[in-house]
Amino acid sequence: MSWKDLVRRVDPYVPGEQPTEQHIIKLNTNENPYPPAPGVQEILRDMDAGQLRLYPDPAAGLLTEKLAAEYRVKKEQVFVGVGSDDVLAMSFLTFFNGSAPLLFPDVSYSFYEVWAECFRIPYRKIPLTEDWRIDPKDYETENGGIVFPNPNAPTGIALPIGDIRKILDANRDVVVIVDEAYVDFGAESALPLLAEYDNLLIVQTFSKSRSMAGIRIGFAIGNEELIRCLSDVRYSFNSYTMNRPSILAGTAALEDRTYFEKTVGKIINTRDSVRDELEEMGFVCLDSSTNFLFVTHPDIPAAELFRILRGKGIYVRYFALPRIDNYLRITIGTAKQMQVLLDTLRLILREKS
Ligand SMILES: *Cc1c(COP(=O)(O)O)cnc(C)c1O
Repeated sequence: MSWKDLVRRVDPYVPGEQPTEQHIIKLNTNENPYPPAPGVQEILRDMDAGQLRLYPDPAAGLLTEKLAAEYRVKKEQVFVGVGSDDVLAMSFLTFFNGSAPLLFPDVSYSFYEVWAECFRIPYRKIPLTEDWRIDPKDYETENGGIVFPNPNAPTGIALPIGDIRKILDANRDVVVIVDEAYVDFGAESALPLLAEYDNLLIVQTFSKSRSMAGIRIGFAIGNEELIRCLSDVRYSFNSYTMNRPSILAGTAALEDRTYFEKTVGKIINTRDSVRDELEEMGFVCLDSSTNFLFVTHPDIPAAELFRILRGKGIYVRYFALPRIDNYLRITIGTAKQMQVLLDTLRLILREKS
């Protein structure tokens, strides 16, 4: 017997590259190209570092209350964490403690499988339909819980709220998590369903639509009892997950709705015009309700295009996984960055033909 027999072994999630060189056009991890709301900069500049000697509020009350007001729910219905990855991991640990399999789509956010493996949760992946959609009928089978992103990632396709309702109707006795990391870019949130379904947990993040991936804020909204269970597990793990600067910065971000709507609007416009231009070049693009496009080209393998772009300082995301290994996921950057991408793609395709 050795300590090696006692180790919890996992194949970790592999995040996209974070290059340190300057001048890279970084379209590989779905960050927002615009800075956070100006009030975030102000609050961080004015912050009194002397306060850091004290532990933060374990309930992150300021941020929790602001979120509750923003989404018109009670503060007892809100849970905050260190990015939605933290919120999702805590939710897996809390709600998926049975012996029937957790269900999630294949293709989807690959972290779900990593958490299931890490926490020893039995699971089953449900293939997307031929046209990359989640079919609610496929979720009418015995299970110990359900999780899916809406819009889905990395496909970018949104599920209509009627279909979410179908999934919930067929699964009243397990927790259903809707991961709304990209919902602000054009999908319908499941928030209006909360009043009817006490087993629904909605998870969102400040990383994408609020331009704050670097500060790590995510949150869940659900009925009070779900949130209490989640908090109990979290307090049994780490009582002070939210640090003082992020509580302040997150609260400041929520105060500026105009800025939020303006930057999200710019990204949606850029996405739609980039999509048109890509299609003119022969790319096939899946419908996107997110801040990225999932694309393939009939004349050049995605893996090759990924390498050529990388060599030219443009980073996009490539997944060497079944079914999607001929696709690239391209984050929507500024209009200027996207123009460089489009010009570069035109050159590459011309050289190829
Ligand atoms: C980006 C992303 C997350 C995690 O984001 P955080 O930065 O941890 O908040 C969760 N789910 C999906 C589908 C994502 O794309």
